[in-house]
Amino acid sequence: MEALPEFELHRPATIAEALAALAGDKAARLVAGGTDLIVNMRRGLVEAPHLVDLGGIAELRKIALNGATLTIGTGVTLDRLANDAAVAQGFPAIAQAAAAVAGSTHRHVATVGGNLCLDTRCLFYNQSEWWRQSNQYCLKYRGDICHVAPRGTQCFAVFSGDLAPALLVHDAAVTIAGPAGMREIPLADLYRGDGIDYLTLAPKEIVTAVTIAGGGGLASAYRKARIRGAIDFPLAGIAVALQIDDGVVRALRAALTACDTKPFLVTGLEDFTGETLNEDTARAFGEAVQRQARPMQTTTATPWYRRRVVARMARRLLLDLAVR
Ligand code: SF4
Repeated sequence: MEALPEFELHRPATIAEALAALAGDKAARLVAGGTDLIVNMRRGLVEAPHLVDLGGIAELRKIALNGATLTIGTGVTLDRLANDAAVAQGFPAIAQAAAAVAGSTHRHVATVGGNLCLDTRCLFYNQSEWWRQSNQYCLKYRGDICHVAPRGTQCFAVFSGDLAPALLVHDAAVTIAGPAGMREIPLADLYRGDGIDYLTLAPKEIVTAVTIAGGGGLASAYRKARIRGAIDFPLAGIAVALQIDDGVVRALRAALTACDTKPFLVTGLEDFTGETLNEDTARAFGEAVQRQARPMQTTTATPWYRRRVVARMARRLLLDLAVR
């Protein structure tokens, strides 16, 4: 890893000041905890002569539960989110996903916004400059070939944030501030499904908050598979939310991460409504999840393993939730 390049740091105190700082320089980038961005800058993956630090903006650091509506500022650290009693009680998958990100020291500075906007990852991209140069780079940055799918024209770098699936099963929306004002979109619409241009944000926009209005009240949980249990990004991750009544499924949702270029809700799960929850139901659920997981060879673990492991985690999570 190389030394950190020179950059100018801007420290706005409000969202309006942050937008003004972004508007002043085309190459300005946002930074909060910096746990991903700084590493990528040192690897030569990001050129940012100007960084706009969101850490001084108090309005981004709020967690509020008003009635059934939970609002989480994107400047909230993952450690704080993981240890928030209201989140853990009403939206367990979210607290569990926050606690599962990286290591403890990362979670103390890494933020909700950073995890939601995490750059996509690939074995051939998250490498040092000299390594990538000796492999003629790749489509995602500076090159003209994809080493994962050499005949393709698309980048399959995988979205690996842990929070997104947990928020998706609780039907979250995100608030976005930009030069044109504020707007709110479903969280699912934040992701484009392209390994290179992976977010739908317009230039100079900032994700300021996550809101869950009515997505609580479901039992939920999150689990991930990773190579190093104490720190790693997911090889595959799944959040499941369940409503069960006398052993019968009333609502079932699942969302995956690290299985595609974007996090996504598993479709077709309404077919499980009205089914008695047992081993057979759980196995069928796992198979439904496995069919929709589409990892490519973007990690050292094989796609075959990641699809199998996410199916197994799905089955176990559902059975665990049924007895809570
Ligand atoms: Fe590069 Fe292909 Fe990996 Fe994308 S999927 S980062 S283009 S090697």
